[in-house]
Amino acid sequence: MSAFGSVFAPQMSLARYEQGAWSPAKIVSADSISLHPGAHVLHYSSTCFEGLKAFKHQDGSVNIFRMAQNVERLIQSSELLALPAIHADQVQQMIVDIVKKYADEVPLPPGSMYIRPTHIGTEACIGKAAAPSTTSLLYILLSPVGDYFAGGSKPLRLLLADETRCAAHMGVVKSGGNYASALQPILKAQQAVQADQVLFCPAGDVQETGAANFILIDGNELITKSLDSSFLHGITRDSILTLARDRGMTVSERALSVEELLERSQNPGAEAALSGTAAVLTSVGTLIHEGKEYTVGNGQAGPITNALRQALNDIQWGKAPDIHGWLTKVC
Ligand SMILES: *Cc1c(COP(=O)(O)O)cnc(C)c1O
Repeated sequence: MSAFGSVFAPQMSLARYEQGAWSPAKIVSADSISLHPGAHVLHYSSTCFEGLKAFKHQDGSVNIFRMAQNVERLIQSSELLALPAIHADQVQQMIVDIVKKYADEVPLPPGSMYIRPTHIGTEACIGKAAAPSTTSLLYILLSPVGDYFAGGSKPLRLLLADETRCAAHMGVVKSGGNYASALQPILKAQQAVQADQVLFCPAGDVQETGAANFILIDGNELITKSLDSSFLHGITRDSILTLARDRGMTVSERALSVEELLERSQNPGAEAALSGTAAVLTSVGTLIHEGKEYTVGNGQAGPITNALRQALNDIQWGKAPDIHGWLTKVC
């Protein structure tokens, strides 16, 4: 089984922004771009991306999960990075076109087709450290992915770190530099305490990990940080909160301190999880803080976490009615 995201469809959809206008999108070979080594993105990180999935249903139809929300987020990321403005209609059409073309390659559940829209500044001008790129490339890559949990899923170990993942105003941007800046803390946590991920908690405020949002479940209450510009507004997060409300749970979007998290994680039946498109909802079994280890609940994947993940998968896989209108059928 190849690693998540290492296999690509042979083609992608691509559009160019030049001289103040977007070219019509074309379907081209997935390895066909050439960039000048002085391209803006390679020096000043004018890059953003999205991650969403298409699912094959039992009736053979192919359905994309929450495409409009992902495209809106790419529009916002592009804006905050001062990249040329992209248009929802064009991006959605590019996604639909390439997914339709590779509909036969969409794996059956629990697999899916991971979709990676990417927008990069291409102007060859190393003098533009403090100015935006006037040209850009927008492309939609496809990567068929298998079961994220193949081989079983062990609850994760998270190191709670009193540091920031990225610049505070960049948290909402799905942009390359943010991941690069989180790498050393993650590598150190893996080495020092065998943590799987770092849970960034600047000034004691529980935020998110390198690429997923954090959720605490205690009894009938689900707690997660309320939206601000410091962290990525996950679409899986939003979907899970919606499904929790549907089930009659109390959803508290508010500040969660490290102190409260550690205390409540010790309650019987407490659960913690990470949410994101790749892994959907993954249980957290252990929190590590200042040299101490805290087992969350009984340390195993919790029943509420499992039920919420199943409820989301059922909609994605066409096994439950799409009551929130989250799916776009492409063929
Ligand atoms: C992509 C991402 C998430 C999860 O977002 P989804 O829309 O749920 O996939 C959370 N945090 C970060 C930093 C991310 O990059």
